[in-house]
Amino acid sequence: MVESWASSEGARRTMLANRRRDTKPELRVRRLLHAAGLRYTVDAPPAPPLRARADIVFSRRRIAVFIDGCFWHGCPTHGVQPKSNETYWRPKLARNRERDTQVTSDLKARGWTVLRFWEHEDPRAVAQTVVAAWLGWDSAYGNTSSPKADTKYLTSSAADPKSN
Ligand SMILES: [Zn+2]
Repeated sequence: MVESWASSEGARRTMLANRRRDTKPELRVRRLLHAAGLRYTVDAPPAPPLRARADIVFSRRRIAVFIDGCFWHGCPTHGVQPKSNETYWRPKLARNRERDTQVTSDLKARGWTVLRFWEHEDPRAVAQTVVAAWLGWDSAYGNTSSPKADTKYLTSSAADPKSN
């Protein structure tokens, strides 16, 4: 019924570019977390049978991390409404935001810590927050035997770790 917004070549390129921007900051965050010694699952459903997937999951610690794309999730700074085919996109993007809110509350209700970030946020700051939550779990549960995080890459002057 609704003509796809992606039917024109320019629109399709814009959409693909948005998708790429969705993933790149997430990769940097993952690299930083990995270099800090944290191990996690990527793009996984944290709490089946809930179908929602999180970008980074720490199962045992029940921490779910979402790095939301500014376009798809309606970032207040960059989540501009597409001008073309507005009747198609406005409800679609609104539904994305509703689903985000629902997923967050479903996970919290099951005892999960939910960390949501925008893709435009500094990957180091994001990684620092995740590491803090990860370490907080240790102190909350009196666990002193698990490995400590190595935070040398999380300061702004450090070079990025090379690989994941
Ligand atoms: Zn943004």
